[in-house]
Amino acid sequence: MAAAAKQKNNQNKIEFVECGCCGLTEECTPAYIARVREKFEGHWICGLCSEAVKYETTRSAPENIITTNEALVRHMKFCKQFKSSTPPENPAGNLITAMKHLLLKSLDSPRKNKGPNAS
Ligand SMILES: [Zn+2]
Repeated sequence: MAAAAKQKNNQNKIEFVECGCCGLTEECTPAYIARVREKFEGHWICGLCSEAVKYETTRSAPENIITTNEALVRHMKFCKQFKSSTPPENPAGNLITAMKHLLLKSLDSPRKNKGPNAS
């Protein structure tokens, strides 16, 4: 009886997974976790961090395009630096606020690296 119940639960099992950048823990399905890991070379990162990584790739100069992995490494460094420079009361919360500001700023000023003399 117990075995049958276990099998049923397996369908929509939820796992706790910790973001490799900010340390935020999220509840996700194994399928989703696997998809994110595939995208970020085995690392699992939260939604906000993946936005920040995307931003990191888009703001790089056109003649020096960085890969997702490079952007991820940069973002991880940013998180580490941020955490070590903030008082430890609520580092994850502060980091998330900082990231939101970063992303909002990027939305606010849609300045592209392509100048008028691109051609
Ligand atoms: Zn994160």
